[in-house]
Amino acid sequence: MLDARYSIRTHTCGALRSEHAGHSVTLAGWVAKRRDHGGLIFVDLRDRTGIVQCTFDPDASGASFATAERLRPEWVVRIEGTVRHRPAGTENPGMATGEVEVEVTSLSVLNMSETPPFEIEPGIETDELTRMRWRYLDLRRPEVLGALQLRDRVTQRFRKSLEARGFLEVETPILGRSTPEGARDFIVPSRLSAGKFYALPQSPQLFKQLLMVGGFERYYQIARCFRDEDLRADRQPEFTQVDIEMSFASQEDILQMMEDVMREVTSEAGVALQTPLRRLTYAEAMDRYGSDRPDTRFGLELVDLSPVFAASEFKVFAGALASGGVVKGISARGAGDSPRSRIDALNQLAIDSGAKGLAWVAFGTDGEVRSPIAKFFSAAEMAELRQKLDVEAGDLALMVADTRHTANEVLGTLRLHMADELGIERSGLDALWVVDFPMFSWDKDEGRYDANHHPFTMIFEDHVELIEERPLDVLSHSYDLILNGCEIGGGTLRIHDAALQRRVLARLGMSAEEAEEKFGFLLEALGMGAPPHGGIALGLDRLVMILAGAHSIRDVIAFPKTSSGADPMTGAPDTVSARQLKEVHLRVD
Ligand code: ASP
Repeated sequence: MLDARYSIRTHTCGALRSEHAGHSVTLAGWVAKRRDHGGLIFVDLRDRTGIVQCTFDPDASGASFATAERLRPEWVVRIEGTVRHRPAGTENPGMATGEVEVEVTSLSVLNMSETPPFEIEPGIETDELTRMRWRYLDLRRPEVLGALQLRDRVTQRFRKSLEARGFLEVETPILGRSTPEGARDFIVPSRLSAGKFYALPQSPQLFKQLLMVGGFERYYQIARCFRDEDLRADRQPEFTQVDIEMSFASQEDILQMMEDVMREVTSEAGVALQTPLRRLTYAEAMDRYGSDRPDTRFGLELVDLSPVFAASEFKVFAGALASGGVVKGISARGAGDSPRSRIDALNQLAIDSGAKGLAWVAFGTDGEVRSPIAKFFSAAEMAELRQKLDVEAGDLALMVADTRHTANEVLGTLRLHMADELGIERSGLDALWVVDFPMFSWDKDEGRYDANHHPFTMIFEDHVELIEERPLDVLSHSYDLILNGCEIGGGTLRIHDAALQRRVLARLGMSAEEAEEKFGFLLEALGMGAPPHGGIALGLDRLVMILAGAHSIRDVIAFPKTSSGADPMTGAPDTVSARQLKEVHLRVD
């Protein structure tokens, strides 16, 4: 709590109440507004704690009255005066300090201000780039301050909750070797070792594992991570993780610990998180919601229609089923009267998401059925389709025939899209675990297997034998924490056996030499009494964004970057001098 200790004031603006009437006070802050009213001047004075009305009367304020006439927004002032009740009928119940005002006896201007490029007020419509260009002014606005105050409370609560459970906060290096979290590294040239580079950490993954080998047993860190990715709406090149690792803990122990900590942390935002959280396996999440981070605040679940069309005369369905695929669908309630143009747009969305096309049947409210393919359906198929998808008049059935994975993913995208289009209510906090991810996925572009989480993930003990022959069937001890359809955390049990770690690296296409070259230190450490261990990392920015009800993580970061990774205020990134380049042995084309 900000109070007046250690400052040139006796009170903060936001603290004044009617019980202070008669008190002499000294305040300091910014001029939020000045109003001249028939010989009286009113100044709303703002500091971090709030706003209080100050009045200047030519008789009481003396020479300060003339100074007050010159005050402009955002000037910094110190005020001395007496708190009094506002005259009856002029109280402002919309303001925490609305019952009182300060009658000013003395005013000093501590600094003047240029006219700000936008108003320092809640709910302004100024574009984000302008606000970022003058971020220090934006920070003075209550909603930005409020979000960062919540972030502070959440961060402190993580520290307190984890400390209380025996976790040690340890810092790990920023200048290091590349850690493979699947993104591109930011690299930093070394001056002392010509031609060599550090990589900024994508996460402290390997260091936290080494802390477990080092016997620390429970570690956490509010860690800055760096990933050089093309930025989507919800990403920043640098972001903050609450990074956690534990030794001698089962997956169950880790999930239990995390739920307990999350209950305490979310209470800072007034949320009563109900635990234990629901769990879905990855397979189930994909099957029912077409996503590994399902938003389960609404239905619109995917339905397997393959049995309905087992003997279909429609070539597209029959073909997909014959080659081991599926026919799946969703029914969008209330979209049955959609014009053709809207359905064409959905078809395009399905194609963009990886489908060959979208099959659809529109059930109009007038009872009429429109569909380019319904003519291929038998009466029995149509009846079964309606029954399985629970179709009513006025619904739109959307179907995809493809491999199970593609059909799920495409329908998962359509499901979210239709929920937006239909304005389906999504309220409340929906938290759940998605567990048991496949260890590997096939990277078509690179022509090799990739680790779904990362290469240090423990696989199911009875799947070890499948690594070489059937890698896509190998499941891993892994868990993601999902909040309102957002992945806000993820973790795994780790491999603590050097031989198994080598086998996994080999499956990822790494030669023994390469594995040694890149991860020799880890493999060596695993051979030196590494305890069984596992952990998790939570995305602090996203978590606070959801708890603050904000729409972008930029709203909960003090100095965020634009979607092109730039800081419009400082001008980063920028060129450096020829001398700086030379010192780090670089030439720019
Ligand atoms: N290092 C992982 C990540 O950044 C999280 C973990 O496995 O603990 O996603």
